[in-house]
Amino acid sequence: MKKVLAALLLLMAIVEASFALPVYESAKPPVLVQGAMNSETDRLISALDEPVSCDIAHWRFFAGKIDGYPVVVSVTRCGMVNASASTALALETFRPCAVINQGTAGAHDPALRCGDIVVASDCFNCSAWMALPSSKDQGVNYRDIGLLDLNFYDEYESGNDITFIPSDGKLKGCALSVKGRYSAGKVVEGRVATYDSWEKRVDKIIFLHEKFGSSCEEMETFAVAKVCRVYGVPFLGVRVISNSALTGESFDPKTGGYCQDFVIEIVKQYVGELRR
Ligand code: SAH
Repeated sequence: MKKVLAALLLLMAIVEASFALPVYESAKPPVLVQGAMNSETDRLISALDEPVSCDIAHWRFFAGKIDGYPVVVSVTRCGMVNASASTALALETFRPCAVINQGTAGAHDPALRCGDIVVASDCFNCSAWMALPSSKDQGVNYRDIGLLDLNFYDEYESGNDITFIPSDGKLKGCALSVKGRYSAGKVVEGRVATYDSWEKRVDKIIFLHEKFGSSCEEMETFAVAKVCRVYGVPFLGVRVISNSALTGESFDPKTGGYCQDFVIEIVKQYVGELRR
């Protein structure tokens, strides 16, 4: 009996004293909100009541509350590898009820300007493609590609074509329902292209936009969407245009703040609906 009590007290002390160990308890499963960089997560972290931070390897998480509801903010770092690894760890550790991946992006749609927001209708892996063959000295035509559905080889998917992974309908509905609260640009629905690349060549951008229907490019959304799909957790992608080779606008880090402010409104709307 004494031993059990001692073990219990030790466990309570660990939970109490340090959030350094990935022990997370909350009455309700939290909403997980991700951003790659500090400039894409600072306002979200400031919006948390009673925040506690925790590092798992080199990924940092902040657990707290927004409108009294548990929210975990995750700094994923840039790129698809960081995004997928930190998402898997977060899903295992925090067991969130929903995941919102948000941040900056470059425009593929000529109608978009810095400050405009793309609420992802869906996203795709823009680095997953197969080229048509060409022989030596024939040159390389970047247009000779078709997208590859890597999930085709995934038994778990049993042949589903998920080249384009859609955002969750309820989360997307919440985002669109609060678009009137956003004033730094327009809010549109669109397709997000993810790869570990930064394209600045206008012809290539127009090609991707026309061939695959992409609205913008960035480096995390698809990786997160795929991991959430495996876990069956609702997912939403939200991106602010921070640069556009099409309009000549260079990267503006302030846009990362605008996106976070909008996402805070989405979270408030979503947790309000969960309560109903
Ligand atoms: N620190 C860099 C910008 C960010 S690096 C600079 O000062 O120039 C890449 C991050 O920005 C990624 O997390 C990616 O999701 C996002 N991003 C913004 N615009 C992008 C673009 N045009 N192409 C690819 N990623 C972009």
